[in-house]
Amino acid sequence: MKVLVTVKRVVDYNVKVRVKADNSGVDLANVKMAMNPFCEIAVEEAVRLKEKGIASEIVVVSIGPGVAQEQLRTALALGADRAVLVESNEELGSLAVAKLLKAVVDQEQPQLVILGKQAIDSDNNQTGQMLAALTGFAQGTFASKVEVNGDKVNVTREIDGGLQTVALKLPAIVTTDLRLNEPRYASLPNIMKAKKKPLDVLTPDALGVSTASTVKTLKVEAPAARSAGIKVGSVAELVEKLKNEAKVI
Ligand code: AMP
Repeated sequence: MKVLVTVKRVVDYNVKVRVKADNSGVDLANVKMAMNPFCEIAVEEAVRLKEKGIASEIVVVSIGPGVAQEQLRTALALGADRAVLVESNEELGSLAVAKLLKAVVDQEQPQLVILGKQAIDSDNNQTGQMLAALTGFAQGTFASKVEVNGDKVNVTREIDGGLQTVALKLPAIVTTDLRLNEPRYASLPNIMKAKKKPLDVLTPDALGVSTASTVKTLKVEAPAARSAGIKVGSVAELVEKLKNEAKVI
């Protein structure tokens, strides 16, 4: 079974992002970038399927600037076999990304596509769902367990207040939630080996996909600064303040 895994290059989750002075977006100058954490979980799940003998090939795909090859090489070091970069320096909306992924799916014909549930930069949580609509594949979102069973994949989904298990007919799309697995680290020998694994670079034009945007970002704002708290001397003072200042009791 061929598994396609999507990998997005995003600002590292440890970085405190700064908004540009003109509020047009986030300042990416000299900022550490990394693989989106939910995509790391997607790669790990595919590698585990390969280790169980269920997946025969793992192809990782990223859409973004040339430097996104770094994240693809990381995925190759973690166990993917081959990588595809759809190179674009534009800021692409989810629909454009989903259309490009659909073109890659048409070329690669995977049985299973694993995406992160969400990119931590845009927080869109919609690319997997859009790809499912464009391909007509079954979708299991927010997966905390994935079990391939013949021509079906059982996906346990994290839903409000519980879990739901669905059976999807392959080919299918799965988006990963946090509890699906704990991704491994790449070993040094595997990082070296990954340098020799195949990485193809395509363009939206070559895939015949228009990436024209239907959404325009008007403004990006940092969260309001929190005002400093105070220390109270006694329980009585706390109760007095909650009653008379905060007026919450
Ligand atoms: P989003 O819908 O933007 O929150 O992203 C959900 C998931 O779609 C991410 O975790 C990635 O797996 C995938 N994805 C989104 N944008 C890209 C991209 N530019 N390149 C590769 N994968 C992407």
